[in-house]
Amino acid sequence: KLSDRLQLLLEQVPEGSRLADIGSDHALLPVAAVESGKAISAIAGEVNPGPYEAARKGVAEAGLGAKIAVRRGDGLEVLEPGEADCISIAGMGGSLIAAILERGRVLGKLEGVNTLALQPNVGEDILRRWLLNNGWVVTTEHILEEDGKTYEVLTALPEGQAFGLTNEQLYLERVLPGGVVLSPETLLQMGPWLLEKPNAVFFAKWQGEITKLEGILASLSRSELESAEEKRTVIRAQIKKISEVLECLP
Ligand code: SAM
Repeated sequence: KLSDRLQLLLEQVPEGSRLADIGSDHALLPVAAVESGKAISAIAGEVNPGPYEAARKGVAEAGLGAKIAVRRGDGLEVLEPGEADCISIAGMGGSLIAAILERGRVLGKLEGVNTLALQPNVGEDILRRWLLNNGWVVTTEHILEEDGKTYEVLTALPEGQAFGLTNEQLYLERVLPGGVVLSPETLLQMGPWLLEKPNAVFFAKWQGEITKLEGILASLSRSELESAEEKRTVIRAQIKKISEVLECLP
C-alpha cells in the first residue's frame, strides 16, 4: 500500500499519462501509476546507485519491466524531449526540485509536459517562485501529515492550459475579511490554494514556524551586535505577519 503522501501524488497524475518520476528511489509511484492504469508507461529516474538499484528491483518485482524504464542520470537528463507528459518529483527540498526543473527547461526536457506533480519537503516558496517565473500555474495544493512530518503536494500546469487561470490572477493581492493583506510574497510563502482552504495541518505547520522563529529570536536576543538587531526586526515582522494571517483565516 502506498503512503498517504504518495497516494495523494498519484491522484495528481492525469489518466493515460506517460509519467516520468524523477528521484524515484524504490519506484513506488511509477509502479502504482502503471498498476492502477493511470499511467500507460513510466520512466523512473535516479541519480544515485543505491536508489537506482532499488528502483530496478521494484519494477522487476512488480513484473512491469515492459512498461517502466528505469534510468540512471541527473534530473530530467534521463528523458528524451517529448517522452513524458507528466513529471513527478517528490521527497526533496523545493530548491532541489526547482534546480532540476530549471536544468531540464534549459535542456528542452519540459517540452510536451502538461503536468508537474511535485512534493517538496521544505522550501515550497522557492518552488512556487520557480513555477511562477517559468509560466507554470499551480492549480491544486494539498498539505498532509504523515508519521509526524508535514508534506505539501503541488500540481502545476502550463499557463494557457490551466483552465483559464493565470499566474497574475493566482498571485493577485487579496484582502482577508479581518483586513489583513495577503501580498504576492505571502501567497508564495504559504500557498495560494492552501490559504484559500486552510486545514488543521496548515495551521499546525505555521504555528510550528512561529515557534521556530521565536526560538531564533530568543537566541538572537543574547547578542548585542547591530546585525542581530536587524535580524530580530525581520523575524519579529515575519512572526507578526504569520500570526495575523492565521488569525484572519476561516
Ligand atoms: N520520490 C521518492 C519518494 O518521494 O518517496 C523518493 C524520495 S528520496 C527521499 C529522494 C531521491 O531523489 C533519492 O533517492 C535521491 O537519490 C534522488 N535524487 C536526488 N537528486 C536527484 C537528481 N538530481 N536526479 C535524480 N534523482 C535525484
